[in-house]
Amino acid sequence: MSKLDVLAPLDLKHFAPPRPTLDDSASPDILWPDHVFPDLPPLLQGHPDIHLRNGVIDADNNAQPDAERAFFVADLSQVYKQHLRWRKCLPNIKPFYAVKCNPDPYVLRLLAALGTGFDCASNGEISQVLAIGGIDPTRIIFANPCKAVSFIRNAAKMHVDMMTFDNADELYKIARAHPGAKLVVRILTDDSKALCQLGIKFGAPLSAVPALLAKAKELDLDVVGVSFHVGSGNYDPTVYTDAIRRAHTAFDMGTEAGYHFSLLDVGGGFEDALFEQAASYLTDAIETYFPDRAGLQIIAEPGRFYVSKAFSIATNIIARRAPLGNEVAPSAASDQPRVMYYINDGVYGAFNCILFDHQVVHPYVLSMDGSFHVAASEPIESSSVWGPTCDSIDCVCPNVQLPVSLRVGDWLGFANMGAYTVCAASQFNGFQVSKVVYTAGIFRPAEVRAVLARFASEIDKGNV
Ligand SMILES: *Cc1c(COP(=O)(O)O)cnc(C)c1O
Repeated sequence: MSKLDVLAPLDLKHFAPPRPTLDDSASPDILWPDHVFPDLPPLLQGHPDIHLRNGVIDADNNAQPDAERAFFVADLSQVYKQHLRWRKCLPNIKPFYAVKCNPDPYVLRLLAALGTGFDCASNGEISQVLAIGGIDPTRIIFANPCKAVSFIRNAAKMHVDMMTFDNADELYKIARAHPGAKLVVRILTDDSKALCQLGIKFGAPLSAVPALLAKAKELDLDVVGVSFHVGSGNYDPTVYTDAIRRAHTAFDMGTEAGYHFSLLDVGGGFEDALFEQAASYLTDAIETYFPDRAGLQIIAEPGRFYVSKAFSIATNIIARRAPLGNEVAPSAASDQPRVMYYINDGVYGAFNCILFDHQVVHPYVLSMDGSFHVAASEPIESSSVWGPTCDSIDCVCPNVQLPVSLRVGDWLGFANMGAYTVCAASQFNGFQVSKVVYTAGIFRPAEVRAVLARFASEIDKGNV
């Protein structure tokens, strides 16, 4: 009997978060270490909050030199949930997960197991995805319109054929290094309603497309379709209407140039909170501009949507600066919060999302004075939260309300830390990148585990 067969159906009630206190450490049945993939950390079970608390308890009982280091908890069931949501709202659009958003090995494996494709931007990402095993190179789109020639050559060697371009120089490079590539022209769309606008760097304006396609034809290259990106962290779901209209114009330009386009790539930019709305605008626009979809493959490159809510981080307050008595704050800083907390991850680490991704993060008190409970009556005051490096840019929250009695050794948690965080963390000043603890989570955890276990055994047998 395989491991899968003996997996008992799990009672969801079992996963309701018990509330351990510091002296009531988690009972053994809450932990369910499982080495689904021998080279990865174990896959635990249970509510992510339990693992945040367990991490805190472990740290408090640990005498290691980095006992109190910050750590992530990843709830893989959250990724699974987003995938089901995607399939429900956009059943005819195949997601190619944007690896750059969070190349976590469990996330990549879960998505691979669920059958998504992958949007890679470099040789490194392509190798990472292919190294998992069981992923056909046709499931990868090399979606960086400006690639090094050696990367294009390597993509050819790895049989990664699908790639984007938005300029003529790229066409010459591809003609030399991968003449058999299946090209996708990335067009410029309105990205003014996004946290991160990508159009200042990428995308051909429609007016440039006919000449690019003529050049591609002249070089005997195969252009198969059109892509765009409405900007990362898009907060106006209506932008898809205009983007699809432009894509349709580009399809006509393709026909004009002698191509028959068969691929529409609607890019990324999907926000968790606005997803259903975006999906609805997108679906309507596709219906309007592409009513006849015979032979048309539609794909997307979601990143943030899949992972943003799946990761939380626990950080330890390693230092605090507060006036001892009734000192008057230095006048220049008189409008600054009176108390400054220093935590052990910052903008050079996981919180780089504040600088690079324009995120605003919100801490909550994870543990205070040895307890996971903060009374509602606890007085609060304006405070600021800083990272551990010696750089003053390393500010996590300039002004946030926190309990007056918060002290060194207490823990602050941050939710929604899955997108554009771990992936761009540095080790500046000798601070290590925070580690990740994995749980199958609370949403259909048995399914999550089964999907992963089946994938692992298929890779093992080499027959995915
Ligand atoms: C970053 C990026 C994505 C992912 O964007 P999200 O906003 O995270 O969905 C998709 N495609 C390309 C080409 C990108 O550069």
